Amino acid sequence: MTVLTGEMLIGFSAVRGQAGEQRAFDPATNAEIPAPVFGLGDEAEVERAATLATKAFDAYRTLPLARRAAFLEAIASKLLEIGDALIARAHEETGLPRARLQGELGRTVGQLRLFANEVREGHFLRATIDSALPERTPLPRADLRLMKLPLGPVAVFGASNFPLAFSVAGGDTASALAAGAPVIVKAHGAHLGTSELAGRAIQLAAQETGMPDGTFSLLFGAGRKIGEALVAHPAIKAVGFTGSRQGGLALVRVANARPEPIPVYAEMSSINPVFMLPDALRNRAEAIGRDFADSLTLGAGQFCTNPGLVLAIDGPELQRFLIAASLALVAKQPQTMLTQGIHAAWQDGTRALDALEGVQKIAQGEPVKAQCNAAQAALYVTDAKRFLADGALQDEVFGPASVLVRAKDFSELLEIAERFEGQLTATLQLDSADHDDARALLTVLERKAGRILVNGFPTGVEVSHAMVHGGPFPSTSNAMYTSVGSTAIDRFLRPVCYQDLPDALQHDALKRGNPLALWRRVDGVPLQA
Ligand code: NAP
Repeated sequence: MTVLTGEMLIGFSAVRGQAGEQRAFDPATNAEIPAPVFGLGDEAEVERAATLATKAFDAYRTLPLARRAAFLEAIASKLLEIGDALIARAHEETGLPRARLQGELGRTVGQLRLFANEVREGHFLRATIDSALPERTPLPRADLRLMKLPLGPVAVFGASNFPLAFSVAGGDTASALAAGAPVIVKAHGAHLGTSELAGRAIQLAAQETGMPDGTFSLLFGAGRKIGEALVAHPAIKAVGFTGSRQGGLALVRVANARPEPIPVYAEMSSINPVFMLPDALRNRAEAIGRDFADSLTLGAGQFCTNPGLVLAIDGPELQRFLIAASLALVAKQPQTMLTQGIHAAWQDGTRALDALEGVQKIAQGEPVKAQCNAAQAALYVTDAKRFLADGALQDEVFGPASVLVRAKDFSELLEIAERFEGQLTATLQLDSADHDDARALLTVLERKAGRILVNGFPTGVEVSHAMVHGGPFPSTSNAMYTSVGSTAIDRFLRPVCYQDLPDALQHDALKRGNPLALWRRVDGVPLQA
């Protein structure tokens, strides 16, 4: 059984931080969790972890792909071995229901295994060969071979809202390790014990599969100091982050101010607009209303893909939706939010909506009685003119709140879509008579969002090869990549071209004879030869 000690994990050692102490917190009772006491680190531990990661980098990235894949699979197995303890601790620290956390553990394990397969299959290397053309005139062509290599050690900031799947052993860590990059995680203060448990699982997996010391480290630190020191450290070559726009942008600034700027892949804020088109509303207003209320309140609305904005043309069908959504919403129980800070931000956000002229609250969930840090779901209504006039209505209110915008006609819907900031998702509820409207909206929405979905709701992000969980600013700081799905690995890779390298010096992935039996692009043609 893994026993929590409150120590940081630096490579294969456990280190008690001396820069302060912190206890984990139970948001459901508003009480500190007495044991263990976490020792907080500072620049000294950043230096130690970063130096070790730099030393580990070449040894780790040049291991055979099968060894790297076995490491990822071993992490998945270790997490499953401590599954019950992990879920119990995560439940205590986050207030998230056990069933949700059980699902999240499955997702975390599935994600690690997906990346293990990806590593074994080797497609992510994008091995590409342009054979030499010695007889070409007027100039011969050299032998050119391209493959992708890892950028270097990666700093990961665990997300508060996914204590397993987007934290210590989550998607950023899994994709960076799969790329061949050592990882240093800055644990989120909202789930310190969960972080240590997951960190110890990774540490053990690294030891048992013979990974170099320093391939993985986990740091605890209160406040911004340790995070900024980590991003500023010259050993770090890329950053993965999920959290607030303010936090993400602060880290982007630190990264850009370095003598050597580095990429920060920050997933920040999105209100995930849902358009309900006329034929869909005519045919299914009540069902859409009920499903919307379920999606809005899932996980106390603490999803980056929460449907925070719903739009439709005003009329009797929209009224049917409103009645169904309101009836479903009033029955929703209040739910504990992840932290006191997130709860306070939620209260500020809903108070700001309450105070906005031209915006009415039309439905609320069950009122909060004795629960600590709980959110009561809320649905607001405004009109298109008001939405277009007030940029504040595009601000993310993290939690179970959404604004319904009534438009007078389709051109107003299009105008609003044009005004959107970048989004992780955009949704269309449509039936067959809506195709012309949908086509016009799609042209706009594909400029605005990373994922466009039809007749569903955006909460629920599949971990697969075709998934995109990204989008234009401010949903992320870099619209070119996804943080979920197998192509998340691309964030931590860069292409290198080898010109006329003798086979004896070449990586196996690019050798003549293709010893790894990879699919490679050879003279423009995909071949497994
Ligand atoms: P956060 O305040 O942005 O913090 C996330 C992580 O980044 C924490 O480890 C935090 O460290 C660190 N951090 C934040 N600002 C930093 C800075 N200036 N320099 C260095 N490190 C920094 O996010 P949160 O605590 O998870 O939640 C707060 C708000 O973020 C929510 O109310 C919500 O609006 C938003 N949020 C959005 C998403 C999303 O997916 N879009 C997910 C979660 C949260 P410290 O805690 O030590 O400062």
